[in-house]
Amino acid sequence: MKCDMCGAPGKLYEAVIEDAELKVCHECSKFGKVTGIVKQDESSETTSKNKNKETKTEVMEIVVNDYAEKIRKKRESLGLNQKEFAKKISEKESLIQKIESGHFEPSLGLAKKISGLLKIKLIEEYEEKHEPQSRTKTDAFTIGDLIKTKNK
Ligand SMILES: [Zn+2]
Repeated sequence: MKCDMCGAPGKLYEAVIEDAELKVCHECSKFGKVTGIVKQDESSETTSKNKNKETKTEVMEIVVNDYAEKIRKKRESLGLNQKEFAKKISEKESLIQKIESGHFEPSLGLAKKISGLLKIKLIEEYEEKHEPQSRTKTDAFTIGDLIKTKNK
C-alpha cells in the first residue's frame, strides 16, 4: 500500500485531510487529522487458520504390515482353502493369492471385510497429535478458578 497523497510506501495512517478520508504516510498525515492506523497485515488471517489446523488430532487407519501372514494363518486354522475364502468375501481367488503372498495390500474396506470374517485385527489406528502452541485452555481455567475463589 502506498500513500494516497505522495505515493510513498510503508506504514500508513487513516487521516482526514480537507474533509477527505485518505490513507497517507506519516509525513502527509501532518496536513490533516489522523483518525487511525491502517493495518496492512493481510497474512495474519491465513496464519491463524493454519494454526487451527495444526492443533487437530488426526486418526489415520492403516493396514497392518503382516496382513499376509495373519490372513493365511487364520484362514488355514478355519479349514478354508483360498477359493472358499474368496467366495465368503465375494472376491476373486487370484486376489486372495496376491494378498496372502504379500503382493497386494488390501484396501481399508477390504481389510475390514476380511477382519470381520476371520475375527482378526488387520487395521491399525495411527493417531497424529499436533500439540497446540498456546496454553489458552489452561490459562482460562486458572483465571476462572481464581474468580470463583474470590467470590467465596
Ligand atoms: Zn505521503
